[in-house]
Amino acid sequence: MSQRIDAAFIIEREQPQQCDFCGAIAELRPYGPNGEAICFPCGMKNETAAKEQFRKRLGTAKKPKRRKRQPSQKHMDDVSREMELEYERQFPPESGSVSSGGKP
Ligand SMILES: [Zn+2]
Repeated sequence: MSQRIDAAFIIEREQPQQCDFCGAIAELRPYGPNGEAICFPCGMKNETAAKEQFRKRLGTAKKPKRRKRQPSQKHMDDVSREMELEYERQFPPESGSVSSGGKP
């Protein structure tokens, strides 16, 4: 029994093993209701449990190494700054303060 505890299990390709549930030889994920190593189809059969395991694993993992779609803080900052600039372009501060009198 060699279970990986770190988060690398998400991206690491492991040797095909026998599924605890259906017995198929496949690439297994530790997404069984009790952390069993199961194949993808079995994981999808009980998606709720799989997600629960997934969440649990992420919670215990110190450094989740997910390669795809990692919204880093820097990226979010870039996006918000980009939006601010776009906003200022659309609504320049000067033209906005002109109508302070309230007359139509
Ligand atoms: Zn299976």
